[in-house]
Amino acid sequence: MAVEKREFQAEVSRLLEIVAHSLYSEKEIFLRELISNASDACDRLRYLSLTEPGLIEGDAQFRVTITPDKEKRTLTIADNGIGMSRDEMIGNLGTIARSGTAAFVKGLTGDQKKDVGLIGQFGVGFYSAFMVSSEVEVVSKKAGETLAHRWVSDGKGEFTIDETSSDKRGTTITLHLNEADAEYVEPERLRTIVKKYSDHVALPIVLEHDGKEETLNAASALWVRSKADITPDQYKEFYHHVAHAFDEPWMTLHNKAEGTYEYTTLLFIPGSKPFDLFEPERKHHVKLYVRRVFITDDAQELLPPYLRFVRGVVDSEDLPLNVSREMLQHNPMLSRMRGQIVKRVLSEIAKKAKDDPAEYAKFWDNFGAVLKEGIYEDHDNRDTLLELARFRSTAGDALSSLDEYVARMKPEQDAIYTIAGDNLETLKKSPQLEGFRARGIEVLLLTDPVDEFWISGVGVFKTKQFKSVTRGAADLDKIAAEEKKDDTPEKPEGDVASLIALLKLTLGDAVKDVRSSKRLTDSAVCLVADENDIDMHLERLLRQHQRATGDSKRILEINPKHALIARLVDLAGKEGALDTLGDFAWLLLDQARLLEGETLPDAAAFSKRLSSVLARSL
Ligand code: ADP
Repeated sequence: MAVEKREFQAEVSRLLEIVAHSLYSEKEIFLRELISNASDACDRLRYLSLTEPGLIEGDAQFRVTITPDKEKRTLTIADNGIGMSRDEMIGNLGTIARSGTAAFVKGLTGDQKKDVGLIGQFGVGFYSAFMVSSEVEVVSKKAGETLAHRWVSDGKGEFTIDETSSDKRGTTITLHLNEADAEYVEPERLRTIVKKYSDHVALPIVLEHDGKEETLNAASALWVRSKADITPDQYKEFYHHVAHAFDEPWMTLHNKAEGTYEYTTLLFIPGSKPFDLFEPERKHHVKLYVRRVFITDDAQELLPPYLRFVRGVVDSEDLPLNVSREMLQHNPMLSRMRGQIVKRVLSEIAKKAKDDPAEYAKFWDNFGAVLKEGIYEDHDNRDTLLELARFRSTAGDALSSLDEYVARMKPEQDAIYTIAGDNLETLKKSPQLEGFRARGIEVLLLTDPVDEFWISGVGVFKTKQFKSVTRGAADLDKIAAEEKKDDTPEKPEGDVASLIALLKLTLGDAVKDVRSSKRLTDSAVCLVADENDIDMHLERLLRQHQRATGDSKRILEINPKHALIARLVDLAGKEGALDTLGDFAWLLLDQARLLEGETLPDAAAFSKRLSSVLARSL
């Protein structure tokens, strides 16, 4: 078969450009990435061979071999793992398979490209080879197949692929090193790098030079060692290895469970937000091992989706080695382990929340939105999760727990007030908050889409009901306004009623009702949802996701103390008011819609009315 030339997927080219320019100071990690891939490939074959022993073909000594060649200035990294077929080489080495990664790379801005931490989040993996090489050659033969293939690229947009012969199963990667990167043929340099980053890799990493073989790493699973024998640096490197991450873990949890079931967990909570946190699959990435043998990184039964930011390994002593994916699905042992692991992770997080609120705030900013999914999904741990939840509020910039909010409630206040929207700054300016602010009532500001769901699912926190300030009648009479230096005389109720009647008549079906507001102090108007109607922000959210089509009718609230409304009240009783005030009625409604962040149903009509009213006033 002839040599075929192909182009990289556009995102790969972009990624390669970033890799070539931005990771300069961390170049040596290319070796860690390639060793990591090689060891994953061995793990995968080891697992397959449990049910298909023939695949091993008499070569069961899994290992990674590193061979430098000073004269040719090449470095070769070879494994006897599962290998890749032709299609797999094209797919794995020419495209970015995970849609999230591709989207992430696409969205990177100029400045972000220089941020090693950010790039590191998705693990540059195989492509890091191009940080030190002018050309990379990959020869691979898949276990059980007879043909081998060669993939070659200089990392500049294209690669070639052709058939070749190889008597060895697995993948051999040959790096043609840049002149400036000749150091990576020095045995001493290679020893140091492997020790630093890959000591914990559980199979031997062998250096081949001058006809000698030398194993460079400890070659035993890190989590099996006792805590006392593991340094913080070793934990960190292991985290980088399992999580394909560059950051510092926010928390490291290493435990041995010795109850009915025996298993070891070595789990990490990342110090920064992984880019794929909000992918619709909501998959976690914890790897399942059985007695040191890697089984799968896709045992979704191992952790609930709301803990998908956790990284690491779980190694069971009791599951059968030949456990199949199907067996994992409704496995009572696994669900028991899951229950215990969740409790353990949550209790460690809770400890940190109590002991170090500043550190906890960092965690919350990264993962709070994910953790909150558990409030409505995980009934068993709902109370714990509610205790862990933190909020921004109108009381200040600090994060606050629900208990703290309740402790600050006014004596007459019986509900936990909330307002939901897309961002804090806009929310803080919502007119619906005015009356609450005037009475010193704190309102929680909710900006995560998930808030709408768990709040309606939970309804109550320790006897206090959650209440949206944009829904229902604001029952604020019980609580006196703190600063009542407002000297606008109240309009007689009858006159206000005439204006309301006029507004209703004009606006007709466009609103559900018009009423005098208790929640406004400064603004003229606002929209609210009726007590039993869907919250306005939630409806917008659902509409964005094509989950709701209808437009619920809203209630227009007017503030009779506002100068504009007061003037309209005066005019409403006069003859011909219906004609003269028609434009005003619509302008009030459109104003309220704009404040709410809604788009106007008829912007042209709005503009026409506004111009005509302005013209008349000049
Ligand atoms: P990641 O490892 O994060 O998935 P990489 O770019 O490093 O991303 O690798 C892409 C894919 O190529 C891997 O997921 C794996 O399927 C395949 N691959 C890379 N190296 C090897 C190898 N040595 N043996 C077999 N497959 C490999």
